Amino acid sequence: MDFGKLIPRSYKNELRKAVRGEGIYLYDEDGREFIDGCSGALISSLGHGNKEVAKAVYDQLVKLEFAHPSRWRNDATLEAAEEVASIAPGDLKNVWFVSGGSEAIESALKIARQYFVERDGKGSGKTTFIARWNSYHGSTIGTMGLAGSMPRRRDFTPLFQETPKIQPHYCYRCPYGQTYPSCDLRCARSLENEILRLGPERVLAFVAEPVVGSTVGGLHPPVEYWPIVREICTKYDVLLIADEVMTGIGRTGKAFCVNHWDVIPDIICSAKAMASGYSPAGAILVSQKLVDVLKGGSGAFQHGHTYNANPATAAAVTATLRIMKRDGLFENAAARGEELMKGLRELMDIPIVGEVRGMGLMRGVEIVADKATKAPFPAKTKAAAVVTSCCMDHGLVVYPGTGMISGVAGDQFLVAPPLIVTSEQIG
Ligand code: PLP
Repeated sequence: MDFGKLIPRSYKNELRKAVRGEGIYLYDEDGREFIDGCSGALISSLGHGNKEVAKAVYDQLVKLEFAHPSRWRNDATLEAAEEVASIAPGDLKNVWFVSGGSEAIESALKIARQYFVERDGKGSGKTTFIARWNSYHGSTIGTMGLAGSMPRRRDFTPLFQETPKIQPHYCYRCPYGQTYPSCDLRCARSLENEILRLGPERVLAFVAEPVVGSTVGGLHPPVEYWPIVREICTKYDVLLIADEVMTGIGRTGKAFCVNHWDVIPDIICSAKAMASGYSPAGAILVSQKLVDVLKGGSGAFQHGHTYNANPATAAAVTATLRIMKRDGLFENAAARGEELMKGLRELMDIPIVGEVRGMGLMRGVEIVADKATKAPFPAKTKAAAVVTSCCMDHGLVVYPGTGMISGVAGDQFLVAPPLIVTSEQIG
């Protein structure tokens, strides 16, 4: 295969060429139709070919495509911030725009650190984050240190500082060998032990995905999990950062996933579906407490990328969110998610399907070699890749996971169609 000058995602796998999209469908160069059953990677929530968003971006581009954010403000970004704030929980009404998920996480880490420095002085010992095993927060050096898919980050470990980690709420394979609810949520309570082990004066923030996405697809927490971690973070003056890059913007049936448990983090990281793929977009939603300290202190967030507060992205965000609200797409995600789950439960009759799980239109399927023992397939069989490529051959695109189970690749995939999906299409 000749890639010309392009460095592709892989020189070894020949990918089909996508040439067109419409609604929940993508079309290849031969005109073959595929159901986009994972919205890219949980991005294309409005589906493909949405002319309203395309027009909003076009109109903005011809009016003002760029004005450097260090010297100019622009109406498009102010408007987009209002839209994002209108769906934000609690007092997370302060919005800083970036171009994607990794940048959102990096921004959250920096604003968290700056908050403590400005609040407590430059000598603030709060320098340590806590994250979880089997999670993914991005592919930059900083976010890889926080966590990540083991196979993807292994070669780079000498480049970053490993963040302390606690075990995830992986009930199907409880890391403590316990069973919910008699476990008393040991996974959540282990956060307190870790904070005490490190010393609360050193711990800056706990970072976690409300529903795990790309490492252990669709892993949703027990209902008590987030309220417990919120309480622990508050008790020890540790910030709670919710990585809603995948789960946010209606994906799980509410604007943000933490809304399911009425938990208000200190920072939410959002990206992916924010502009539904019509422009690279991301943001952090920041609590008033943090912003007040910055405002009363240095007066500026010591951070900034060239494409921060980009007008074209802002137009895409505003249009996306307005359509989502007008068309009730968060509610649609909740209702269609139940229908999808009903169908996925039928897969449990297949001998290699170990578990189906998730929330709203973010569902995961875990594949096992032995249902009774839950033993995964040997890593070299690449079972998830085989299943997902077989789905693609049959016209359905799903998203393979890259988690690790007892040191070997765990096989799972995400099913997460666009939020515009209808009952008929699910059925
Ligand atoms: N956080 C989560 C939970 C993600 O799933 C991802 C990407 O898949 C990221 C962060 C990184 O986002 P991006 O790929 O836009 O940098």
